[in-house]
Amino acid sequence: MRVLLVGGGGREHALALGLAADPAVEALVAAPGNPGIAEVASLREVTATDPAAVAALAVDVAADLVVVGPEAPLVAGVADAVRAKGIAVFGPSAEAAQLEGSKTFAKDVMTAAGVPTARAYTCVDAAAVARALDEFGAPYVVKDDGLAAGKGVVVTDDRAAAERHAAECGRVVIEEYLDGPEVSLFVVTDGEAALPLLPAQDFKRVGDGDTGPNTGGMGAYTPLPWAPPSLVDDVMRDVVHPTLAELRRRGAPFAGLLYVGLAITAAGPRVIEFNARFGDPETQVVLAMLETPLAGLLHAAATGTLAGHPPLRWRDGAAVTVVVAAEGYPAGPRTGDVITGADRAGIIHAGTRRDADGTLRSAGGRVLCGTATGADLAAARDAAYALVRGVELAGAHHRGDIASAAVDGRITIPG
Ligand code: AMP
Repeated sequence: MRVLLVGGGGREHALALGLAADPAVEALVAAPGNPGIAEVASLREVTATDPAAVAALAVDVAADLVVVGPEAPLVAGVADAVRAKGIAVFGPSAEAAQLEGSKTFAKDVMTAAGVPTARAYTCVDAAAVARALDEFGAPYVVKDDGLAAGKGVVVTDDRAAAERHAAECGRVVIEEYLDGPEVSLFVVTDGEAALPLLPAQDFKRVGDGDTGPNTGGMGAYTPLPWAPPSLVDDVMRDVVHPTLAELRRRGAPFAGLLYVGLAITAAGPRVIEFNARFGDPETQVVLAMLETPLAGLLHAAATGTLAGHPPLRWRDGAAVTVVVAAEGYPAGPRTGDVITGADRAGIIHAGTRRDADGTLRSAGGRVLCGTATGADLAAARDAAYALVRGVELAGAHHRGDIASAAVDGRITIPG
């Protein structure tokens, strides 16, 4: 199988490692890729959000499967353009990707499908914003209605800050606060059949103890020792299958990766958000645990044959990833700094670039992450931190508490 992988972040580096390890993959091309991906794939230039350009590249490299990593190309219609060339693509149509592209669309689908989620209002003016904030009370949850790379959400007790964010975004969704630990559940689907991957937890806030502003994600671990044993089955029954059925009913079947972001509240799992692609950095840990060949799995989802796919196989133990961020991230990351110590197994590149002379430099807010597996969560965490400590990057910062509450048994479900 010849595979074209679209994207160039940490998620795509993790996907590239999984795809390259699948014996069925004879050639892996990534566009635009990154210096980490370049170790396992040949790189091509492309504007990932240009559907015609990606489709032409897929034809040019004679791809049997195109895997689209990030959300923006999906929302722009890249999967539709590739499919129109008769090439299998792992990633939903632009219409189905609205599940991520528009919070209002997602709420609408959830309501129609009876999916448990936070009550919410879409607001376009200050008066409506004030009414919604009054009704739900603090903590206030204010979300930009469009794509915001996971950074368009403000959760705050500060009423003025909530109003300010709403005014800056224009069209916002204001919703009730969901209290409870968060879970990311990835589901591989061809629109009808659906296979859940291992549930993971990520760390959205920049600082230890979940302090500071929201980020794209500062670390992750899997599996979740504290999760109720029935969690995945419950979410498949109450959330995933009703959502897929509703999208089929609308004539916009969702084939690709359905990312279900949940809060485990006293009343049970509640959907915080859907995404239309693998999450970053949870992908790094989930794929580190997956034994089933990745390309075969994604190809089955892309060709409507997932029902016939064998059950997934997982490694024993646990996986942890710790993100190393640039100075100033998330507000204003500094780029261009030299990185050393990154050339080792388990270092996943996210925002890096290589000079002509081979020097590795930071090129984004989340620069790289150290990903490790271990016999248990504590061992995986220690190994991930050992990787991160071996990296030198001026001004860089990382959280010191990734997976620690789970290791110490400090995560509880309210109620
Ligand atoms: P989102 O972009 O919707 O994933 O939101 C980013 C982060 O904001 C989530 O991972 C949660 O930590 C937090 N968040 C979003 N919505 C809610 C909510 N209704 N209640 C509590 N926290 C939320």
